[in-house]
Amino acid sequence: MPWEIKYKFNDLKNLIIKDKESYICFYGGEPLLNLSFIKRVLKEVPAKKFILQTNGLLIRKVDVELLNNFDAILLSIDGVKEVTDIHRGEGVYDQVLENARWLKKIGFRGDLVARMTLTEEGDVYRDVLHLLSLKIFDHVHWQLNVVWSERWKDFKGWVENNYLPNLSRLLNFWLENIENKRVYGIAPFKGILKRSIYGGSVPPCGSGTESVAITTDGRVLACPIAVDGKWALLAEDLKNFRGLNNVFIREPCTSCNVLKECGGRCLYAYMEKLWGEDGFHEICEITMWLVKKIREIRPKLFKMVESSSIDLNDLIYPAYNNSVEIVP
Ligand code: SF4
Repeated sequence: MPWEIKYKFNDLKNLIIKDKESYICFYGGEPLLNLSFIKRVLKEVPAKKFILQTNGLLIRKVDVELLNNFDAILLSIDGVKEVTDIHRGEGVYDQVLENARWLKKIGFRGDLVARMTLTEEGDVYRDVLHLLSLKIFDHVHWQLNVVWSERWKDFKGWVENNYLPNLSRLLNFWLENIENKRVYGIAPFKGILKRSIYGGSVPPCGSGTESVAITTDGRVLACPIAVDGKWALLAEDLKNFRGLNNVFIREPCTSCNVLKECGGRCLYAYMEKLWGEDGFHEICEITMWLVKKIREIRPKLFKMVESSSIDLNDLIYPAYNNSVEIVP
């Protein structure tokens, strides 16, 4: 993937202008390495919303005024310092938090999201609560480091003895606080609840069905991760992109009884199945477990909404496709 933008800026502009509901998310690599391009897009392309996914290290190089054009900023941080620094490098945790605090200080008004990758060293209860306790982030989201990672020593054991028990504790914490009229911004819980009520795109991030990735070389892809998958190529040149009319996710998802909430989880994982069929089903079992738990607490939440002790809008997320994948 070339570092420089190889397509004509006006081709991008012309494409976006046709869509009155367009949202642009800058995604990498690290998008802030090409700040001049981002500035130009924010200034000249009339998208309805702008989103930035960043490792957070270069954010202070961006003008304050420019930052406030973003509706959401997703910062990569994996939880407590030890866990974040293991995979992202020594000192990254401190630097990301310093920059996140700075964003708050300068009055960033958008949705500030901590985006975690959950690995074998992680503990979803400890790490999510830690990030929430900092009172910096509006939402915390995590993605399991599954499908492409070979780093697991004992994935099954971790799921059984660490992830699911701690996820259950986290869900109880969320519910207990809602009962006390405090809704923590735990993105997967709110997102799955929202889909359980309204449904949503398949897959949840909309890849290939509602959203596309435009690569620096000007190709249009169904999924930003699938940079070399032939199945993902929708147009060789964005000038020739004619719109979305794809159905990628089929069986076993189409007959799965959690499809409404799960939406096939992740297009890349579905298409590539890098952990094989068995690995795919192992992850499905985790998703089914979580969806079932959310379905179980739903009546209680609805009662609280009916009695006006809580507002439904505070329980559901995201209000628009802000690139949060919803299903961990
Ligand atoms: S749980 Fe698995 S089979 Fe069911 S919709 Fe999700 S990805 Fe598809």
